[in-house]
Amino acid sequence: MSGKVWLVGAGPGDPELLTLKAVRALHEAHIVMIDDLVNPAVLEHCPGARIVPVGKRGGCRSTPQEFIHRLMLRYARQGKCVVRLKGGDPCIFGRGGEEAEWLSARGVEVELVNGITAGLAGATNCGIPLTLRGISRGVTLITAHTQDDSSLNWQALAQSGTTLVVYMGVAKLGEIRDSLLASGMSANMPIAMIENASLPQQRECRSSLGDMQQDAQAFQLKSPAILVIGEVAASAQALPLAVSA
Ligand code: SAH
Repeated sequence: MSGKVWLVGAGPGDPELLTLKAVRALHEAHIVMIDDLVNPAVLEHCPGARIVPVGKRGGCRSTPQEFIHRLMLRYARQGKCVVRLKGGDPCIFGRGGEEAEWLSARGVEVELVNGITAGLAGATNCGIPLTLRGISRGVTLITAHTQDDSSLNWQALAQSGTTLVVYMGVAKLGEIRDSLLASGMSANMPIAMIENASLPQQRECRSSLGDMQQDAQAFQLKSPAILVIGEVAASAQALPLAVSA
């Protein structure tokens, strides 16, 4: 008897941003393995399931990835329907790809379900159109935190003409600023820092590349937060976009 693992994105926090497909997977689940950044409110869709917390936030208590892999495999081999629920989208800095590959290689049926990633949700929630026509010709999602400490090609990013959305950047604001300034980006480049995007406690701090670290400090910016770097981070404030209260 073989079960199935759904690798599901729970979106950025607001339970209304869950997809219908995620809700269906939750309904079918026997076991729900839940990450730290998932809003527990979404668990109303799986009242009968066993909930297994497997959070692993940077610097805090963590469940080793290998353990999570093996646990999913064990449940699937017991014939269980497992939902591995992750914040945002499972494949945007969420290890969805590696988990899917690991399980598939062991004969487990896997299905990936999109979630709305925090960077896109945060920007839109704050009225920032990431690809505003005539201003931004694209958007680049990057992380400031790499497993091997390899560095990004900041020069290429600075010159890309795209809006940069940075994940896991709160502890690296100084480095990001220095790298972009050294790559020729203007100190006046607008920045938006969005904490707890889509949740009732969402906060946003607008600044510029040159001032972002001091401003974030004064604002007491905390993780989870995303940074939006680009002209749209300023122009959006004045746009008459419909943002629900
Ligand atoms: N898979 C997730 C990202 C996981 S990496 C996604 O697609 O959204 C964790 C990082 O995501 C955090 O450090 C933060 O930069 C960002 N993040 C996740 N949830 C967030 C939220 N509600 N508000 C702001 N940033 C968030």
